Amino acid sequence: MTPNPNGAVNGRRALPLHTRMLVGFVVGAGAGILANLYAADAAWLASFVTYVTDPIGQLFLRLLFMLVIPLVFSALVLGVVEIGDPKSLGRIGGKTLLWILTVTSIAVLIGLVLVNVLEPGRGLPPEVGQALLSEASERSAEIAGRGGSISGVELLLNIVPKNPVAAAAAGDLIAVMFFALMFGIAATVIRSHPTRSFVSTVQGVYDICLKLIGWIIELAPFAVAALLFSITAVLGVDVLMQLARFVGTVLLALGIHFFIVFPILLRLLGGMGPLAFFRGAQPALLTAFSTSSSSATLPTTLKVTEDNLGVPRRVARFVCTLGATANMNGTALFEGITVLFLAQFFGVELGMGQQVLILVLCIFGSIGAAGVPGGSLPVIAMILVMFGIPPEGIGLILGVDRLLDMCRTVVNVGGDMVGSVVIGRSEPVIADDADVSTDEIEPVVRPHTA
Ligand code: ASP
Repeated sequence: MTPNPNGAVNGRRALPLHTRMLVGFVVGAGAGILANLYAADAAWLASFVTYVTDPIGQLFLRLLFMLVIPLVFSALVLGVVEIGDPKSLGRIGGKTLLWILTVTSIAVLIGLVLVNVLEPGRGLPPEVGQALLSEASERSAEIAGRGGSISGVELLLNIVPKNPVAAAAAGDLIAVMFFALMFGIAATVIRSHPTRSFVSTVQGVYDICLKLIGWIIELAPFAVAALLFSITAVLGVDVLMQLARFVGTVLLALGIHFFIVFPILLRLLGGMGPLAFFRGAQPALLTAFSTSSSSATLPTTLKVTEDNLGVPRRVARFVCTLGATANMNGTALFEGITVLFLAQFFGVELGMGQQVLILVLCIFGSIGAAGVPGGSLPVIAMILVMFGIPPEGIGLILGVDRLLDMCRTVVNVGGDMVGSVVIGRSEPVIADDADVSTDEIEPVVRPHTA
């Protein structure tokens, strides 16, 4: 059973998941605003929030957290193994890695600059933010098993875990990422039978995580209603204005990356005019928009990249297949904006050092996110907790996530195709690319089941 692009398990339900999420949003926010207007001080409202809506929201968040460590570990190990195949694709692999890291950094930087300049999360009276924060922070620390925020030289040292199991248990995401990267590199270097079977076990873990995300996301409509009720019952209608500013900021940042950065890269490095690119890439971009899933779009991406954009098959296969889960410019940008928006919203001050760490986490977080609808949510929830920002804020975002997911997936898939054009152009021409054997062109072990 495969989660379809809407996250619905097998199509039994009449309404698609994103519509149910929207209904959850409207019901939760509507009821919360009414409660805020007419019963703000009532004892029953406090009990209802404490014993009904909060636990439902918490349950959903816990389920997401539950997946973070296995998902990020398996995705990163597989990502490195795929990139690092030394056999015939070492050079393309190296270029792809460089591309992913550079262009994803640009995307996150655009997001961070915009969110700092536009400050979409500011506007709540500071005492309200602080009250929300102290209410929620105990719980968030408890969920993640650790409290406080990170600072100073320790920040760098903490990247290397003393004990990877303890780091995983403590929800120390960056340390787990470091460990996974080292593990992946070693697994690439030792190409023995036992390491190969280890990699296929990791592949199994990854596939299971994808399946679980598909199931958990089915609960999102209830979680959205509950989390939104809790927050609007306290804050009233103002919170929705704040949310509109968040959506505007994300769309603006995605637009800059898609319509300015991509064309510049295409012209300078790919030798292709942006119009020709967008015309050729259109079928894949539309599929990405309608499915919100890079993985589900992959077959179209491959076809379009080879046929319409003229990229050699061996390059298109490698870059697009890997890119569907590892190269997510839109997702990285979205993660950065979301974390900073919620920090502003709850009044958590983040210094320069912490923002740089967020940048790094978003780059690897986007590599570790699954290419399915809402695939980045577990990673975002975890980053929030790392910085002492209440993960309940995810409830706010979820209600409008479908639209943003559609748009960021277009940027994710667009990034894979732009990368293929650029890397394809830099590769020597081989007389007949179709002659390259499948073994050579498909080192990628990760199937795309979504
Ligand atoms: N839906 C995105 C993709 O498949 C991942 C995410 O940002 O949630 O590319």
